Amino acid sequence: MSIAFIDLVAQQQRIKPELDSRIQAVLAHGNYIMGPEVAELEAGLATFCGAKYALSCANGTDALQLALMALGIGTGDAVFCPSFTFAATAEIVPPTGATPVFVDVCEDSYNLDVKSLERAIEYARSIKLKPACVIPVDLFGLPADYDAIEAIAKREGMAVVADSAQGFGATYRGRTTGSIGVIATTSFFPAKPLGCYGDGGAIFTSDEAICNLIKSYRVHGKGSHKYDNERVGINSRLDTLQAAILLAKLAIYEDEIEARQLVAQRYEEGIGEVLITPSTPNDCRSVWAQYTVRVKAGQDRDAIMQRLEAAGVPTVVYYSRPLHQQTAYRDFPVDPNGLSISERLSKEVFSLPMHPYLDVELQEQIIDVVVQGARI
Ligand SMILES: *Cc1c(COP(=O)(O)O)cnc(C)c1O
Repeated sequence: MSIAFIDLVAQQQRIKPELDSRIQAVLAHGNYIMGPEVAELEAGLATFCGAKYALSCANGTDALQLALMALGIGTGDAVFCPSFTFAATAEIVPPTGATPVFVDVCEDSYNLDVKSLERAIEYARSIKLKPACVIPVDLFGLPADYDAIEAIAKREGMAVVADSAQGFGATYRGRTTGSIGVIATTSFFPAKPLGCYGDGGAIFTSDEAICNLIKSYRVHGKGSHKYDNERVGINSRLDTLQAAILLAKLAIYEDEIEARQLVAQRYEEGIGEVLITPSTPNDCRSVWAQYTVRVKAGQDRDAIMQRLEAAGVPTVVYYSRPLHQQTAYRDFPVDPNGLSISERLSKEVFSLPMHPYLDVELQEQIIDVVVQGARI
């Protein structure tokens, strides 16, 4: 068996004519930077998620950085981040002068734990930091618990910046990610649910002032005139070619999200008894960036992964070490009760092949291998 962890070939075959004509259109007009496809994509993204404004940029990390720049986050501020996430969530904090403060996650959702957030806020205050911002992550495609997080943020006067790099298009109690948070960000890295053929990202907001600041910051801090810089910015634009590619993919994205639900459902039915499968609250729809399972007590994760590998089923561990235990981040403050769930999950989780084009037959084979491999 040769199985793709994420199959981008099947998708490309499906949209090949549209992709070709979109790319040809860019080659014909030659506006490679900020061409018409960029504006068309931004309008399409905003409509898709229900945010007032969508602004594209060079990648999902820049999207987060631009968000903190627009909010004026700086020295003395505490920015709360889950520890069980990709490094980009936290790495944009120290360059602003602010301090990342690590928060634990919930064991069932893998997402930010609000009780841990409360403790971390109190601790940040005790060391004279001002709680300024929280960055919930929609890990593996499932929205964080935004109602609870927004209530705390409101009480504390903090901004919510939703890192939806893995979760664009997911829904949370009737709201679509992208429209949640003062600012939401996403990534178009090829392997993300909505990916381009290179690097790309986007920022979402319904606040006009923030939108205007980000428009300026992403083009060197420009003012009304291109060579008159009002602030120190960065260069972070999405290539027109990537926007053209994303337009072809956005057109089928809703259909793909639905296809991902069926794949997740079949996994749940097939392996729900042998491993701990992800739980999705009834009022949420995940976009299943990853299908991440946990071993049960007594099961040996690495041995199971090896058996699957030997049978041709690729698996990956996201993430084998929480950020607060990594060299670059271990000196930053954490929830004073510790981050035991993040530490435990990093030893128990692994992710299975997941993409919208995983056909039933192939998935049945994967499920058989997993059921065999998970036997103690
Ligand atoms: C991928 C990812 C990012 C960064 O996106 P890039 O486009 O790779 O810069 C940020 N946060 C999370 C949670 C991610 O998974």
